[in-house]
Amino acid sequence: MVKESRVDVLIIGAGPSGLMCANALAGAGVDFRIIDNRPIGVPAGQADGIQPRTIEVLQSYGLAEPLLKDGAQMHLCVRTSASRSFHILSSNIDTCAGILQPRTQWRHRTYWPGCRRNGSNSPLSIQGMFCYLASSYLLNVFLQITIAQSTIEALFIDSLKSQGVAVDRPIVPSSLEISEDAEELLNPSSYPVKVVLDHMLPSDTAPEQEIVHAKFVVGADGAHSWVRKTLGFSMDGEQSDYIWGVIDFIPDTDFPDIRNRCAIHSSNGSCMIIPREGDKVRFYLQMSDKDVMDPVTGRIDKAKVTAERLIDVARKTFYPYTVNEPKEVDWCSIYIIGQRVASKFSAKDRVFIAGDACHTHSPKAGQGMNASMNDTHNLGWKLAQVLRGRADISLLKTYELERQKYAQDLIDFDREFSALFSGKPRTSDNEEGVSHEQFLTAFQASGGFSSGIGVHYMPSAIVDTTHQACAPSIIIGQRMLPQIFVRVADARPVEIHDMLPSDTRFKLLVFVGLLTSEQLGKVGRLAEELQLPTSFLQKYDHPAEGKAQSMFDIIPIAAGNKDDVNYLDIPPPFRTHWSKVLIDDTDVTGRLGGGAYERFGIDPKEVTMVVVRPDGYVGMIAPSTAVESIDKYFGSFLIVRQEKP
Ligand SMILES: Cc1cc2nc3c(=O)[nH]c(=O)nc-3n(C[C@H](O)[C@H](O)[C@H](O)COP(=O)(O)OP(=O)(O)OC[C@H]3O[C@@H](n4cnc5c(N)ncnc54)[C@H](O)[C@@H]3O)c2cc1C
Repeated sequence: MVKESRVDVLIIGAGPSGLMCANALAGAGVDFRIIDNRPIGVPAGQADGIQPRTIEVLQSYGLAEPLLKDGAQMHLCVRTSASRSFHILSSNIDTCAGILQPRTQWRHRTYWPGCRRNGSNSPLSIQGMFCYLASSYLLNVFLQITIAQSTIEALFIDSLKSQGVAVDRPIVPSSLEISEDAEELLNPSSYPVKVVLDHMLPSDTAPEQEIVHAKFVVGADGAHSWVRKTLGFSMDGEQSDYIWGVIDFIPDTDFPDIRNRCAIHSSNGSCMIIPREGDKVRFYLQMSDKDVMDPVTGRIDKAKVTAERLIDVARKTFYPYTVNEPKEVDWCSIYIIGQRVASKFSAKDRVFIAGDACHTHSPKAGQGMNASMNDTHNLGWKLAQVLRGRADISLLKTYELERQKYAQDLIDFDREFSALFSGKPRTSDNEEGVSHEQFLTAFQASGGFSSGIGVHYMPSAIVDTTHQACAPSIIIGQRMLPQIFVRVADARPVEIHDMLPSDTRFKLLVFVGLLTSEQLGKVGRLAEELQLPTSFLQKYDHPAEGKAQSMFDIIPIAAGNKDDVNYLDIPPPFRTHWSKVLIDDTDVTGRLGGGAYERFGIDPKEVTMVVVRPDGYVGMIAPSTAVESIDKYFGSFLIVRQEKP
């Protein structure tokens, strides 16, 4: 007898994207299983860069603290070419104007010795400017963090464990069928996906089979995705000619910028230095064909890429600095850049692919793991709301719509960035080479993209730009801008992102303005309107099922001076808890907060509502006079609550 089971969501693959999905579903109380073909998780190596937006996302699940504590933080980014060195100095990025506005700082610091030998008389400046960074709450500092992929995976696995969930392994799927019955496919309570799983047993024993009937399946099974191939989706794009060696080790070198993220561009090849947790460092080294090819077969010979070989290549790139034989090598590998996107991200809105299964790109911009986790961050809340019967199944179409476009943009960006990074530097002998200005322009232009902060979802059922003019700097379709406000009741400063957890609820930020008696009248009338049975707040919420299952969280934000505002003036429907009434003012030190109305372009004499989706992206904005447009927005994907007879 073959064992049969049912589950709401089956996740295939427990890498970063599968684990993020599992974590989101566990938090939402969804019935799911996660399986992986490997007996244990990834032990070392692979991805290591955590971008600013991903830190925010992890923070929204309460998972970022260990990264901030243990990861290597990158505050300085350096580009060094054979002729001169450029320090790209990180500082705060002011994201509040709606676009990234690096606060540029330039400074002189060091010289690349090779240059003087080449006879240049010009003073060689090292010029600092922005780097990418991310919000670290309250400080509003922006950072990129590096840490081993295994640590990220462990973070999720521990979180799942605390919720009573473990990865089932080693298990391999051997067949997947989706029902053709249109009625069954439209019914979110049905189990239209049948997957046969082979439980791998100790050698010499045939695997034990299990048939799983699932409502939804998420294929997060990596670049060689079995799920993708089974669905017949193609990977469109190219394999580039760039071959990179990667090595994680504790270096022994006199290169002064070894603890900074550094791009070295030399005629002997390029290298990217990524400082890592503890004393570790990662090198990405550009390899020539002769370094890696078998001269007989003309194919890549992985056996040639040893740690010794990679250090040898590094030595040439670093000359005249030295790189000595390392005492400790953690991991090394070879990486060929394939820039591809899957032709589809979902089959019949029942089986989805995520992460490397649907996009692959170079590691240079450090996007792989980030894009992968953000795919399932996008999908998780949608699955949860459909499974709860709160959202129409058509909501799931927005997953492919939003993430496939993002993946394509990522590949386009990566193609340009990798070519610049892998090309030879411009010199008097090589005028076609990559100039410093070209590199810097591309680096600057890509800041919002590579940090993840500039991800912008296009108009759809869940992105409505009709009333963008009410808050021109809060870009609808992008993540909510970070901002410190002050709690009216106890004057404590709070970062708004800390009030936007990924808990499947929509957050309604009500900018109530300057609380004059006239304005209080407007706010009161809006509160009354939202209490009507026809309003979205009443039609789509499920108060009887408790806070964890509720659909909305309301955060009123006043303008003005904290000393003049009484939080009890806010009408009760908007004042769900004393800690949720905020004011756009500075804290008692006068250093934190203030200026948001002006920065966001919100009129303090009007009442403006900002709808933030459960994944932290702004879904719509509306003035108090356009409640019907918010009703319409939610009506396009939420299901009206049916009163129990
Ligand atoms: C060898 C290697 C080196 C890499 N080096 C770098 C690097 O230097 N820098 C960088 O930024 N990125 C690197 N990456 C890419 C980075 O690891 C990925 O972008 C990131 O892990 C994507 O996460 P994911 O969850 O989508 O896929 P993965 O991390 O690949 O996870 C997929 C999971 O699915 C499991 N799986 C696969 N097939 C099946 C199956 N049939 N059934 C069940 N489970 C299955 C796998 O065991 C794995 O746990 C590397 C990847 C690999 C494989």
